[in-house]
Amino acid sequence: MDDRIILIYILWNFYIVDVFEGTLVRTRCDKSYIGSCLLIYQGRLSMSIKCMKCNRDAIIYQKYSGMHLCRKHFIEDVERKVKLTIRQNFRIGKNETLVVALSGGKDSSVVLHILHKIFHQRRDLEIIAISIDEGICGYREHNIEHAKALAQELGVRHIIRSFRDEYGTTMDELAAKDRVYGTCSYCGVLRKSLLNKIAMELDGTKLVTGHNLDDEAQTILMNHLGGDVERMIRLAPPRALEGLVLRAKPLRNIPEKEVALYALLNNMLVEFERCPYSHEALRGEVRKMLNKFEVGHPGTKYSLIRGFDKMVGVLAKDYPQVTLSKCRVCGEACTGDLCQACNLLGRG
Ligand code: SF4
Ligand code: ZN
Repeated sequence: MDDRIILIYILWNFYIVDVFEGTLVRTRCDKSYIGSCLLIYQGRLSMSIKCMKCNRDAIIYQKYSGMHLCRKHFIEDVERKVKLTIRQNFRIGKNETLVVALSGGKDSSVVLHILHKIFHQRRDLEIIAISIDEGICGYREHNIEHAKALAQELGVRHIIRSFRDEYGTTMDELAAKDRVYGTCSYCGVLRKSLLNKIAMELDGTKLVTGHNLDDEAQTILMNHLGGDVERMIRLAPPRALEGLVLRAKPLRNIPEKEVALYALLNNMLVEFERCPYSHEALRGEVRKMLNKFEVGHPGTKYSLIRGFDKMVGVLAKDYPQVTLSKCRVCGEACTGDLCQACNLLGRG
């Protein structure tokens, strides 16, 4: 790749990384800035770089694959990878109900958009979107508005539930309290539990989330760093367990910047605001480290999840999947007699 060519990367945190003659420039940006950078990128590249599959102007350079792709072939590439992930990790059979966790952010919006595009003609298949309002003032409201608009546009049934109604509290209230764990631990556990509960109520056969390649690679690395093999095994495409709706992550092989680009190219309304509590997460440090590594060693994130996929089959023998019981307080599926959500909320 010629160093003189300006490459624009939309990274996980919506910073633009502009590589110009070897200089790395990071700029905090919003959606309109990303849009204008894409135009500059298109303009500059159109002078010399064409899509490797046709003669149109390239809009992205995938350093890990060595491919320059135009808008059409980039969109096709993303959708091809999603279809392949579905075939390899969680086949979708007849008469299924796909419950999509729709936060209204870019990842979940893109996953709903693509699933709808692939399956909307299947009469035997139902797609239902659910949004959880965790009660994060100034952040979640906007996302939920986007979620509503997208579900309406696609004609998808949409259900909204809140921590307030379900747990009698909000993330803002929990964050303000003295607590043992970081905010995200509470938020993640409570949301996961509520999503599963609603998916069960809806007789969902798959619970679809928008986790992308970056999310997966970060989680794998975090578990490696913590030496937590058992937790890592649980990341593998799960087997059916009573009381738990099978989780599916169709964007598992799409880098986060490409999910963002796909959302922009499809004119999807997504929030680029970040949760006010996100700075607390250890994930942030791992994310920075991985992104830095990816710049120097393209393909690192893919390597991490490929290595994990190979390892998991071998390790699963030593860590057989546990049998679940019911939480004595809320009745949700869990490993002990009290589920993590009830434990965190101090119930029972
Ligand atoms: Fe919840 Fe943490 Fe995500 Fe904010 S960053 S929505 S607190 S998990
Ligand atoms: Zn419980």
